[in-house]
Parts: sequence; structure tokens; C-alpha cells
Amino acid sequence: METHNVVIIGGGAAGLSAALYLARAGLAPIVLAGSPPGGQLMLTSEVENFPGQKSILGGELIETMRTQTKAFGTTIIDENVKLVELASSVKSVTLANGTEYKTKAVIIATGAKALWMGLPSETRLRGKGVSACATCDGFFFKNKTVAIIGGGDSALEEALTLTKFASKVYVVHRRAEFRASKIMQKRVLEHEKIEVIWNAAVEEVVGQFKVESLLLKTPEGKKEIKVEGVFVAIGHRPDTDLFKGQIELDQKGYVLTTAMYALQRLNVETLEQSTSNTFDVHYQTMTSLSGVFGAGDCVDHVYKQASTAAGMGVQAALDAERWIESR
Ligand code: NAP
Repeated sequence: METHNVVIIGGGAAGLSAALYLARAGLAPIVLAGSPPGGQLMLTSEVENFPGQKSILGGELIETMRTQTKAFGTTIIDENVKLVELASSVKSVTLANGTEYKTKAVIIATGAKALWMGLPSETRLRGKGVSACATCDGFFFKNKTVAIIGGGDSALEEALTLTKFASKVYVVHRRAEFRASKIMQKRVLEHEKIEVIWNAAVEEVVGQFKVESLLLKTPEGKKEIKVEGVFVAIGHRPDTDLFKGQIELDQKGYVLTTAMYALQRLNVETLEQSTSNTFDVHYQTMTSLSGVFGAGDCVDHVYKQASTAAGMGVQAALDAERWIESR
């Protein structure tokens, strides 16, 4: 069986950007893009913050990236990976259909999924006023009333982002206390555009073709608030179950690379808990296993942008290329 240079698991912004660099370097990468392929960009409508693209649909952006990288010799396969064996020098990646790939290096770019409340009305109105990214979609709600769901740092950070556009921002939280850091709480509670609704569960996002209001259940009874946008910020979950037990993941399941591990060591608590010394300082995107790299939202739980994922994909490609050459 042929041993490939690099297999990239994930066909979103990170995986395809890594592939572009590796293909241009003549390394003929294989992208196992999953089914359906394309990552979170496929769930957004317009993208206006990807440098070089004035305005483009998420799906179109992915299609352009696929065409671009294929032109330089990337093979893209839209199938899910079932099994990986990453520890030995020749690594093995097997698809759900049984096809196995042997490879020198692997780039993990499996992304993350935004968590949703699970309401049918929320799913139906996604992209029609319901969003999971204020940085991406806040701009479309200039001088409008919006609501953000959640009580963690993401929710409060997004609420503050939304105040730059919206005329009024409701923060709807299911308890009477925020989980977010004290400083974020203070900023939100003191902001004149923000009103917090405590102890409120969302029952329905109301609207036929676009969001018109939110139906809430509170201890005082049902409450309906008029809003044109609903931003769900109840957390993300990285797609990394495949790699558990093989590479080091953080407590929430994000892939630890050298760079992320170094950042964690700045935090004294994690420094005390950590036992690892397997990271190689020469490759910022390498995981705890030699020849296995990580990029994009499965690594990054802070920036979570298409362009930052693309950038990290490029870093991983350059690291992988250098690592292969050094062997
Ligand atoms: P998080 O801390 O897990 O908070 C999720 C929030 O959503 C919680 O308030 C939770 O309510 C609520 N929630 C969860 N499921 C829900 C549901 N089904 N319906 C309604 N509400 C629900 O997630 P996060 O805010 O995304 O933050 C993730 C991590 O990144 C955290 O460690 C955070 O500190 C960090 N972060 C840091 C920054 C920063 O420092 N600038 C920015 C963003 C995120 P309960 O409180 O009742 O559980």
C-alpha cells in the first residue's frame, strides 16, 4: 500500500488551506473532507469578513477553496473517517467505507460544532435571523433589537459585540447567575443597551420566514419579546472523539498543539495539573504525537473565525512540510 505524505482530516477552512500549501509544495495531500463536507462555513449565509472576499456565501467560499487546492494536486474525498492509528511512524487513517490510507503525517482539522438549544423553530430559522456568531452576523442587525442566549463568557462577549450594531440587546439566561468572568458581567450589567432576562427558558423562536419574536418561560409565566435576531451562544463542541486516547486533548476535548499547550502553561493551575512533556517547541501546530498536527476550530476555542482557521491550516501545512523534510 502506498504511503502518502500528508492526510488531512477535515474539509473546512483549516483543512483546505493546509491542502493548498501542501499541494503547491508538491506533496499531493489527501483531504478526507467528511460527509457532508465543508464545516461550519456551510451553515452560514453571507460571509463579509474573509479577507479578499467582499461578500460571498459560505458554501461558495468552500467551493472556491476546493477548486483552488485541487488545481494544484490535492485529492478530496467526501467521506467520514472511522478509525485512526497515529502512534507509529507510518500512520493509518480508515474511512467509514473501509478504505485505508497510510501516511507519514496527519493534520487534524475536524472543526467544532456550535451547540444549539434543539428547538425545531431554531433550526428552521437558522440563517434567517438565528445565528451562532455575533462577530459574523451582528452587522446585519444595525439598529435592530436582538437577543443572545447563554450566560457564559461567549454569550456576554457576543452581547457586547452586538451593542455596536443593534439598538437593544436582550441577554436571556436560564439561571439567576452568570457563569462568565466577573469583569464581563460588570460590563454587561452596566451597559445601557443591554437588558438581562434571568431564569428564562426559550420555548420557541417565533416567525415564519424570519425571526419576529422569542417566546420565553419564566417563573412569572410566559413572556414574549420582540426581536429580529437571535444569537445562540451556549458553547461549542470540538469534533475530536476519534483521537481520544491517542493525542492529548484539553479538558473540553480541544486538540492540544505545542502553541496551545504553551499557552496553558501560562495558567498556573493547568501547569500544576499537567504531566506532559511530549510537545516539540519547533512545531507550533504539532500535537503530543510526532507527525500529527492540529489546526482550526478543533484546536482554537477563542477566535473561531474562518480566516483564523485558514491561517492555522497554513501554519500546520508549513510545519508538516518542514517535519517531513527533517526525516
Ligand atoms: P460555557 O462557559 O460553557 O457557557 C455556556 C452557557 O450557556 C452557560 O451559561 C450555560 O448555562 C448556557 N447553556 C448551556 N446549554 C444551554 C441550553 N441548552 N439552553 C440555554 N442555555 C444553555 O461556554 P462559552 O461561554 O462558550 O465559553 C467556553 C469557554 O471559553 C469558557 O471557559 C470561557 O471562559 C471561555 N471563553 C473565554 C472568553 C474570554 O476570555 N474572552 C471568551 C469566550 C469564551 P449555565 O450557566 O446554566 O450552565
